[in-house]
Amino acid sequence: MNRLCIHSITNKPWNLDTLIEKYNGYNVPALTIWEDAIEGLGAKRARDTLARSGLEIVSYCRAGFFPDRVAAKRAENIDRNKRMIEEASILGAPVLVLVCGADPGQSLEHSRDQIRSGIETVMPFAADHSIKLAIEPLHPMYADTRSAINTLAAANDMAEYFDSEWVGVAIDVYHVWWDPELKDQIQRCGRNKNILAFHICDWKVPTEDLLLDREIMGLGCIPVTEISRWVDEAGFDGFREVEIFSNRYWKQDQDSFLRNIITAYQETFDKS
Ligand code: ZN
Repeated sequence: MNRLCIHSITNKPWNLDTLIEKYNGYNVPALTIWEDAIEGLGAKRARDTLARSGLEIVSYCRAGFFPDRVAAKRAENIDRNKRMIEEASILGAPVLVLVCGADPGQSLEHSRDQIRSGIETVMPFAADHSIKLAIEPLHPMYADTRSAINTLAAANDMAEYFDSEWVGVAIDVYHVWWDPELKDQIQRCGRNKNILAFHICDWKVPTEDLLLDREIMGLGCIPVTEISRWVDEAGFDGFREVEIFSNRYWKQDQDSFLRNIITAYQETFDKS
């Protein structure tokens, strides 16, 4: 089985119709949808277009962002998560990825409490819609505003607290590759059947933008093949999702960027 999946945001300059045409043309079997890719179109029309495409929809990105010092804002955040659960269900995406959020005006512990409470609130709604929630730990450089869950251990703690088939973890090599506990924590995640998604890219050296300068697999310093092997050994057999945010690549020809991704994917996985 070809386990290649690409996130729509990787080819951000392309709209949904073009993404479908190109991924079909290059035999990419699966797609993870970012919210911006269906903006203006709506989930129902996007679903009809996607259904005709034959592409498998792997995940919907990205909900979460639960913490806020202001209670009314936290309530808005819950509403947004519920809307995205409904959209994931309409799109036929079985997993909704959570970038859990953080408020720099309060402690990380406090933000984590609000994340726990937020997931607790939306989890029954997600279960009703048969949508799994994947907690994605983010690199600690994003602990100010994007996530107070910064290691795979912390994501495992949170997922195990819920002990539910509707809550698990998304492992993204970009966020966790540096962690000395990574292999152990991947095994732990697998033992608890909590690996819901696996995101790949590479860390460009030197990185010029900490958000929008990701690299194609094999061109940076992340041992993507080794980490992928650990994830497979932990029992994961789902798609490997290429997620590359890059101002550099978005300015370039998207066809050649996509061809380079596919070649890199084959070199990373097919030779092993
Ligand atoms: Zn990711």
